[in-house]
Amino acid sequence: MRWIVTTVIAAAVGTGWALPAAAEIGEVNLYSYRQPFLIQPLLDEFTKRSGIKVNVVYAQKGMLERLKAEGPNSPADAVLTVDVGRLKDMVGADLLQPVKSDILEKNIPPQYRHPDGLWFGLTTRARVIFASSERTDAGEVTTYEDLTDAELKGRVCSRSGKHVYNISLVASLIAHEGEAAARDWLAALKSNLARKPQGNDRAQAKAIKEGLCDYAVANTYYMGKMATNEENPEQKDWAKAVRIIFPNQESRGTHVNISGAGVTRSSSNRAEAIQLIEFLSGDHAQKIYAEQNFEYPVKPGVAFHPMVASWGTFKADTIDLAKLAEYRAMASRLVDQTGFDQ
Ligand code: FE
Repeated sequence: MRWIVTTVIAAAVGTGWALPAAAEIGEVNLYSYRQPFLIQPLLDEFTKRSGIKVNVVYAQKGMLERLKAEGPNSPADAVLTVDVGRLKDMVGADLLQPVKSDILEKNIPPQYRHPDGLWFGLTTRARVIFASSERTDAGEVTTYEDLTDAELKGRVCSRSGKHVYNISLVASLIAHEGEAAARDWLAALKSNLARKPQGNDRAQAKAIKEGLCDYAVANTYYMGKMATNEENPEQKDWAKAVRIIFPNQESRGTHVNISGAGVTRSSSNRAEAIQLIEFLSGDHAQKIYAEQNFEYPVKPGVAFHPMVASWGTFKADTIDLAKLAEYRAMASRLVDQTGFDQ
């Protein structure tokens, strides 16, 4: 497990990654898969406004296992993570508790929060199609289904079908079109692949840049992260090599997922944890939170980052993400059955 402990809890560094077990009033302990550059400025501002100190443990993996292992003794009050799948796994392990908040219900559209308040979406991202700017014609592909056309043989790249983002996409196909249609889609997409599924979303843009394939499915914000990447400037060329297609605009809309938060069962600072999530759902935080990572604010009416706005508006699939998450296990089975990753 790789856990990064911030200076906020520098005192705990010597003991590994422990947070204070007995939390005091006016504190909230947060486990975060979201990176410091994204949320630390917002957490600092929350503390400035509310007087509530936020202790954060930043993680790249292992949060679910850790929360399970800690059980009712976990010091965590709240979790921040991406994809409804990860939130659903936490619900499945009974790690989150219901929250009722008028502010959260007002700020967050119902399809982006759990019906019993077990989790709340805080940003959204669209799973779109990256198409070669040079080698694709407008209108050739307008839907996820078009990616399975026989004419596209050898022209599509994909990351693993088992990745949490793709499982959610397949779950959305099952929810709308049924199990058989989703299985057929996976099998036909597999037969169009230029190479065995591999790499992350950015690696698909790289493959398009290198001429290995012309189409791939990827999350919107990676376009912004590549286009502005000063650390790895070659990624700017990957971004230039692709354009964004928002699929299924004439039908169910583009699949949208969330990053979100939930209050843990073990929380001993429940009120503070709710206050923090409410703050993150408000106009001020929404704008900064979404802009930092080229995501979309979950709260309607909040302005987008100019680059995100430049991609254009689109029709989002409005399916309830909690309902979609019910199909994740089936989606995972279909990926195995079709040998998508083989
Ligand atoms: Fe991502």
